[in-house]
Amino acid sequence: MSKAELLAPAGSLEKAKIAFMYGADAVYAGTAKLSLRSRAELNDDSLEETIKYAHSIGKKVYVALNIYANDTDYDEIENQIKILKKVKADAIIASDPGVIMKIKEIAPEIDIHISTQANTVSLHAANFWRSFGAKRVIISRELSKERIKYIMDNKPDDLEVEMFIHGAICYAYSGRCYLSKYLANRCANQGDCAQPCRWQYKVTAQEVNNPDSVLNVDYDDKGTYIFSSKDMCLIKQIPTIIEMGIDSLKIEGRLKTDYYLATVVRAYRKAIDDYNKLKEAGRESEYDASKYLVELEKVKTRGLSEFYFSDDQNQDIHDFDGKSENLEYEYGAKVVEKVDKDMYIVEIKNKLSIGDRLEILLPNTIEDCSFNIENLYDIKNDQPIDTINPGIKGQKVKIKIPYELQEGTIIRRKR
Ligand code: SF4
Repeated sequence: MSKAELLAPAGSLEKAKIAFMYGADAVYAGTAKLSLRSRAELNDDSLEETIKYAHSIGKKVYVALNIYANDTDYDEIENQIKILKKVKADAIIASDPGVIMKIKEIAPEIDIHISTQANTVSLHAANFWRSFGAKRVIISRELSKERIKYIMDNKPDDLEVEMFIHGAICYAYSGRCYLSKYLANRCANQGDCAQPCRWQYKVTAQEVNNPDSVLNVDYDDKGTYIFSSKDMCLIKQIPTIIEMGIDSLKIEGRLKTDYYLATVVRAYRKAIDDYNKLKEAGRESEYDASKYLVELEKVKTRGLSEFYFSDDQNQDIHDFDGKSENLEYEYGAKVVEKVDKDMYIVEIKNKLSIGDRLEILLPNTIEDCSFNIENLYDIKNDQPIDTINPGIKGQKVKIKIPYELQEGTIIRRKR
């Protein structure tokens, strides 16, 4: 059995470093112009730097060029493919057959991964993409466990399969949604979704012959997030997914913070590694996802669900609560450098005060590493302070931390 890859999002070099530090084998990013997260992507220079960095530590970078292109986009598409060839991207993620033809023409040496946007929902479709030159298909999020298993059991050996295991999910069939174009004039299929499915709506009714008779229709006091789906979470299904032989396990979230990224990547890294170790020891039945789930719950912004992968087709997949704002933890700080024994400069992300409870996200363990802040020092004059607010972006403070930490380590704060 080949080792499954853990694949994480990275909208910047900084995020790629965090993802790798916390256990990702590969990251995916987009070019600023032609991917489906056009507001959170790498420009050409940072893309090259990210790929160089990844290759220097034996990791990979896949680059999304997955818009459904207009004919007027093709000059820029050719330009981007030439750049990806020059910077040695490990694969290009694409969905539009026209774009794929261009990749084969200009950069035949680069692997092609078929984006989830292409909605590969069957073995026949997977075979089509293989015959069209794809190295990998990212299967549709709308597939049940049985349908994924059928594809895995019958696909050609040299076709890799990637699937989403965690993150936001569209209320519509992924990639076939016009809500954003309709309500915000921002087209999801051109990389510019405004996520109107997450907005709060008011449903009204009106008696047609009486324009003044507008009535609010309330399902219940939470019933107004009518389009918002919960987030996908398949942490309990890691053994099944590994045993199916899925090649790459993908985390969604190119717009999320590095704190979210570190937490989610670390939880899945540990889950995969722990399961593999249990299996080697013949104890795979002991896999228990509860401790990883506790971690994921700390950063969830919506409810979690297994969606189509679950046998329970009556599960509640709708997020009537809207965005969760009462999480027990928040992003506290990120380690910038070690300056002395137990003393670190950290960039603060939320207010820190003496006595606050902080938890360190150590990269190789999810065991509890918490402490209360005893000392904070102003970095300008080294004087002790009681509290500090983030204020300007990049605000830093010196803090005593009783653990050995590396640069980039994420620290969360109990609210
Ligand atoms: S509006 Fe929502 S459902 Fe539609 S593409 Fe955007 S995220 Fe997906």
